[in-house]
Amino acid sequence: MTDADPRVELVRVARTLHEAGYSPGTSGNISVRVDDGIIVSPTGARFGSLDSANLSVVDLDGLHVAGPKPTKEALFHAAVYRARPGDRVVIHLHSPYASALSCLAGLDPADALPAYTPYYIMRVGRLPVIDYFPPGDASLADAIEATAVGSRAMLLANHGSLVSGPTFDAAAAAAEEIEETARLHFTLGNRDVRLLSTSEVDELRLRYP
Ligand code: ZN
Repeated sequence: MTDADPRVELVRVARTLHEAGYSPGTSGNISVRVDDGIIVSPTGARFGSLDSANLSVVDLDGLHVAGPKPTKEALFHAAVYRARPGDRVVIHLHSPYASALSCLAGLDPADALPAYTPYYIMRVGRLPVIDYFPPGDASLADAIEATAVGSRAMLLANHGSLVSGPTFDAAAAAAEEIEETARLHFTLGNRDVRLLSTSEVDELRLRYP
């Protein structure tokens, strides 16, 4: 973490994502792990107008500790932090193309997007798919926790994206890359595409683990 106030950084990054069109309505939530818990956006909050003095705090079980009522999706955030002790920031978006991708049938459950560009491999790695569960279902947090052990990014079926990272910049870059690669996927449609080869992908994964 940098020296910047994590609450101020959280509000800044959320506004940047909102301005890019990645958080329609009141969708999306963002959190940062600090010494005494997880600071997370409140329920019903708009990403573009979060207030650093009015954020929720939950514990590692996702239970409300302080501040306004947290988003019910705080359970996802807590699940990721339990699985990934090295990560400090979690971002969940219902961004348009990632959400559209999450509704497609026949996705590869191990990686929802083909290897179109090196940046996707470098910033996202892989995008495993979490089966659909109703919002707030405890099984969803369990599935997220199990998958997060091996991946810093995932796609929630019929829902959106979820990423984590050691810094705000790393997590935001992964969320942006998923959205832009999903957009590329729909733009290319069923044209003949040259994907990165297995050896090209393997080389990137060695260099950018
Ligand atoms: Zn959601």
